[in-house]
Amino acid sequence: MIDLRSDTLTRPSPEMVQAMVSVRLGDDNFGEDAATNELEEHCAALLGKQAAVFVPTGTMSNQIALRLHTRPGDDVILDASYHVNTYESAPSADLAGVCLHPVDTGTGMLTPGDIDRAIDAKARDPRYARPALLALENTVNHRAGRVVPLGLLQTLFRHARGRGMRVHLDGARLFNASVASRTPLESYGTTADTISVCFAKGLGAPVGSVLAGDAELMDQARYYRKSYGGALHQSGHLAAAALFALRHNIARLQDDHAAARLLAERLARQGLLDVEGPVDTNMVIVDTARSGITAAGLAEALADKSVLAMPVGAHRLRFVTHLHITTADVRAAADATAAVTDTLRAASTR
Ligand SMILES: *Cc1c(COP(=O)(O)O)cnc(C)c1O
Repeated sequence: MIDLRSDTLTRPSPEMVQAMVSVRLGDDNFGEDAATNELEEHCAALLGKQAAVFVPTGTMSNQIALRLHTRPGDDVILDASYHVNTYESAPSADLAGVCLHPVDTGTGMLTPGDIDRAIDAKARDPRYARPALLALENTVNHRAGRVVPLGLLQTLFRHARGRGMRVHLDGARLFNASVASRTPLESYGTTADTISVCFAKGLGAPVGSVLAGDAELMDQARYYRKSYGGALHQSGHLAAAALFALRHNIARLQDDHAAARLLAERLARQGLLDVEGPVDTNMVIVDTARSGITAAGLAEALADKSVLAMPVGAHRLRFVTHLHITTADVRAAADATAAVTDTLRAASTR
């Protein structure tokens, strides 16, 4: 199987497993798990923030951030394609009690004008909904892993702060953004009040995320992590996997990006599949509309050829490159996609 559905599918390498089992465990509830403490300090420094908190998932990290920056009833302004809107609208309403205010930019690139329009779209005197938080995402998952430029993030941060809002950055794939745009990770510290990153995406760790921000905010984050049931005890094995991933698997993300560009080039040659946008990082989304084939139909036919890709819309099929995908896999997947598209097209026009 050539599994291109997601970069969450990676399993730890033997070297990562060795690092995981080599740590001495303590109870993080007593602040005594050395690897977890090291991971949190390392991530805070890496992201240009005072402190960081280890959490099991990116979803919990985002949800704690929403809770930190809002009161029930507040508005959260964000792009419609972002994870917080597409996958987390229920917990955002259920846990933080906020109202998401999505803006459909089509690209994932919000502008200061978008923020102003979203604020002005509703009654905003103190009797009504308070626009409390701007939620950003980098890279933009549902826009084929596009990188939001550092300068734009900084402009949005200043603008949102100027309008009395806080800013959270969902950086599940911030390492991809940093490598692709040659932006030092520490620079992202100046783009948001809180930053969430994931170790279980392209970095190849099995589990884990951190939320980073000011020390005082992170003390409060520990309160919400505990109340959401996310405080762990002997978390050292997981922290060691994340530390190993941070030390060994960041620079190599450029290989995943090169593989995605190669895949996009090959898929575009097919002629009936339209590759969406620029391929900035490790994702390729093809639009199948012109071929008359649905994304689900193409995915099903590809699975018969041992290639897995994920439909993300009626005519949008997503391919993600990662640690387990070689250049030979990319060529084979592109060839299979071209052949299967031809066959399905011939069958439908017969
Ligand atoms: C994967 C992802 C998350 C978090 O997902 P979990 O499965 O909860 O770890 C958050 N935001 C984005 C953009 C993601 O791609």
